[in-house]
Amino acid sequence: MQNKLTFFSSNRIYYYLIFAYIVFSSLLIFSYKSMGGYEERVKNLLLNRAVGIIDDTSSKILDQIIFNNSNFILANLKDEGLRAENEKRLSILSNEDIKSLYVLYINRGKYFFLFDVDKEESTQVSEPFIPENDRFFTKAIKEKKKQVFVQKDIEGLSFTLVKPIIQHNKTVALLVIDYSENRLSSLLEVSVDFLSYSALVLLFILFIFLVYILYSRYNKYKIYRNPKTNTYNRVYMTDNYDKIDFKNYYVALADIDFFKRINNLYGQENGDKIIISVIKVMASFLKKSDIFIQYSGEEFLILFTKENRDEEKIRELLEKIRIAVERAKFTIDKESFSLTISIGVLLHTEVEKSLQEVIHKADTALYECKHGGRNCISYFDISQTKKLYREKLKEMIESDKLVCYYQPIRDLETKELHHYEALLRIEDGDNIIFPDKILPDLEDSYLYTYLTKRVIDYNIKKLREDSQIQISINLSADDLINDSILAIFAQNSDLADRLYIEILENKSIDYNKVELSLQKLKLFGYKICIDDFGSGYSNLNHLLNLSIDYLKIDGSIIKEIHHDKKAYSLVKTFALFCQQNNIEVIAEFIDNQYVVDILKSFGVKYGQGWYFSKAVPYSELSKEHK
Ligand code: GH3
Ligand code: MG
Ligand code: MG
Repeated sequence: MQNKLTFFSSNRIYYYLIFAYIVFSSLLIFSYKSMGGYEERVKNLLLNRAVGIIDDTSSKILDQIIFNNSNFILANLKDEGLRAENEKRLSILSNEDIKSLYVLYINRGKYFFLFDVDKEESTQVSEPFIPENDRFFTKAIKEKKKQVFVQKDIEGLSFTLVKPIIQHNKTVALLVIDYSENRLSSLLEVSVDFLSYSALVLLFILFIFLVYILYSRYNKYKIYRNPKTNTYNRVYMTDNYDKIDFKNYYVALADIDFFKRINNLYGQENGDKIIISVIKVMASFLKKSDIFIQYSGEEFLILFTKENRDEEKIRELLEKIRIAVERAKFTIDKESFSLTISIGVLLHTEVEKSLQEVIHKADTALYECKHGGRNCISYFDISQTKKLYREKLKEMIESDKLVCYYQPIRDLETKELHHYEALLRIEDGDNIIFPDKILPDLEDSYLYTYLTKRVIDYNIKKLREDSQIQISINLSADDLINDSILAIFAQNSDLADRLYIEILENKSIDYNKVELSLQKLKLFGYKICIDDFGSGYSNLNHLLNLSIDYLKIDGSIIKEIHHDKKAYSLVKTFALFCQQNNIEVIAEFIDNQYVVDILKSFGVKYGQGWYFSKAVPYSELSKEHK
């Protein structure tokens, strides 16, 4: 219910719609009511017209009847021939609408038939007549003016015309005509009915339409909102991207700090509940005209309207929000804890071209904030080159500046090429950017996965173009458990015998998930290599479970083996361990023949390093693999 109420209060347009509908219906009902009066007016119009015509024509005929006859009544009573002739004259008037037409002469206040045009029920001359509406007759005589009385109880248009016949300034006779017409008036009634029903149908259709609009809008509203917090979600954002007038808002992007830990500690479901509580704390500081969007699970985009708020005010408000979250106590299973948020802000949205760029900049500020220790607010500042660098990087990754260089891995005994390792580079004009300048900046961002996919696609293309080349590519453990990346390998399993997958171990590796992904990759036929082994997080125990094919010993150890005893024995132990477990060893960072000789004595089969070749673009590779 609360949802429905807020739906209406935040959608004032629907109030207007309902109001418009009520006004429209009232107008229709009013018109319907006044339709009766309208019908009456049209009837009167018809009546006047009919009376007018009859009156005119009858006057002319009466003139002929009376013509030069000083007592036309007596003359007609006496002369049957004359009477017949005059009746004939009068009969010209009769038509299907005139029901009866007769002339009465007046003798001592009483009425007697003189002429009667009715052929069927013709009366005798001098037969007396007693009128039902005597007052009209009397009035016509007295006032010497025609009288019309309408027969209301008869369907259609019916009236009686009583017209005085005056001789010597005295009413001596009356012409009486009963008129009744049905066609026009029933047509009028039908059209009035038709209009009324049409209006009702129209009203009904409009009603259905209004209900439909409200219903579909309400459904959409539900899709756009998190029902628990009533704040917008990402769908709203994508649907209204172009409609949001971002220049009217200060834009902040807030992210909960170390939320993964909360999920790990309390589980995903409790994590969701905490997100809701955090949203409620934050949203309580907003105005009605501000927009709060749950941008992703624990990342929020807030648009603060600029109206009546200067920069100082918004800075204070954001600080209040940050402190409110910091001080709030969240409780799961009776255990109480607190958390913090980091906020990246862009104040000068008015100079930006798109909402995307605005979010981009707020995100850059947020990133700055996370790297500055979290639980803080960072404002995007155009002069900070580091922030811009990250943006530029994003741009470059999304463009076609991303390439791979190739470094050979050779058999230490025969020096024959085994395969190439694909190494990521970004070509920015003449400047080549190396992975160590790219990857740390992208960690934990969606661009990281995007980057991996670009590298995979790049090399799959090379493998398809060059049927002899064999390539290894680098994946992080996070990449490996990403379903969309696994799907790419599944689709290209025909290349499995020429594509090696190098996996970088790290501290947060989830061995169970990784093992499952590796099993799938092995099933497709891919060869697996553990990269940088010995660099810090190596776990021999887990290594055996992972059923790998190659192990690459970290360059920092290889570099030292000819003068560091510890490095020497470490590599020797790794090599022995691998021999016993059918794992081939690759050594990297080889820079002289002396190191090659030591490695060979340990039974290490493959190696790479500047001693053999640096990584070079594909176009510069020797043709030895072809
Ligand atoms: P940081 O301080 O760098 O923000 O660390 P973080 O752990 O919060 O990491 P990050 O913001 O990059 O990742 C957010 C994590 O929150 C990823 C995911 O495990 C979790 N998460 C994202 N959305 C949801 C959600 O809707 N519900 C829950 N329970 N967890 C989510
Ligand atoms: Mg976070
Ligand atoms: Mg996040």
